Amino acid sequence: MSGKLITLEGIDGSGKSTVLEQLKAHPVMSSVVFTREPTTGWIGNAVEHAIHSNTDHLAELFLFTADHAEHISKVIQPALKNEKNVISDRYSDSRYAYQGVTLSSRFDDPIKWIQSIHSGWTIVPDMTILFDIDPKIAVERCGNRGKQTKFEKIGFLERVRANYLRLAKEEPQRFVIVDTDRSIEKIEADVVGLLTSFV
Ligand code: ADP
Repeated sequence: MSGKLITLEGIDGSGKSTVLEQLKAHPVMSSVVFTREPTTGWIGNAVEHAIHSNTDHLAELFLFTADHAEHISKVIQPALKNEKNVISDRYSDSRYAYQGVTLSSRFDDPIKWIQSIHSGWTIVPDMTILFDIDPKIAVERCGNRGKQTKFEKIGFLERVRANYLRLAKEEPQRFVIVDTDRSIEKIEADVVGLLTSFV
C-alpha cells in the first residue's frame, strides 16, 4: 500500500494557487501532504534564479530536473511510503509543457526528449488535474499581480497550453481537464469532487 500522488498543472494564471489555498482549508484534505515545484530548497531557489534571468534553456531544464529529483527523494517518496496522499502544485508535466516550448528549436520532439531524461526514476502521478484556460484570460488575471516572468506572455502560453493538451490526449487515463474560466467556487467544487472520489 502506498499513498496517491496527484498533481495540479496549467499555465500561469489558470487559478491553481487560488484553488489550492481553498483546498488546504477543506476538512477532507487534512491528512494530505501539499507540496510544489519548483521547491523552496536551495535547488528550487536556483531554479527561481534561472527563471528570472537570461539562462541557457538547457541549463534551466537541468536545474528544474535536479530540483525534481531532490523533491521526489526528500518529500514525495517518503510521504507516499508513509501512505500519505500528496498533492503537488506543478510537477514533471510542467517541464514537458514549458521546456517543450523553450527547447523547440533544439530538438525535433522536445517533449519526448525531456520525458526520456525523466524515464526510470521519476514517479508518474496517479492523477493529474489540468487547469485549462485561454491564455488571454490567464494573462489578464496575472496582470493584476505586477511584474511578469518571461513565461507569462500570451504567445508563449498558447504553445504551453497546446503542449499540455497534447500530454492529456496521450495519457487520458491519468489526466482530467478542468475548465477554469469559471467561478472559483465551481472549480473548487469540481476539484474536491475529483479528489474525494479518487483518494
Ligand atoms: P496560478 O497559480 O495558476 O498561476 P493564480 O491562482 O495565482 O494562478 O491566479 C492568478 C490570478 O487570477 C489571481 O489574481 C487570482 O485571484 C485570479 N483568479 C484565479 N482563479 C480565478 C477565477 N476562477 N476567476 C477569476 N479570477 C481568478
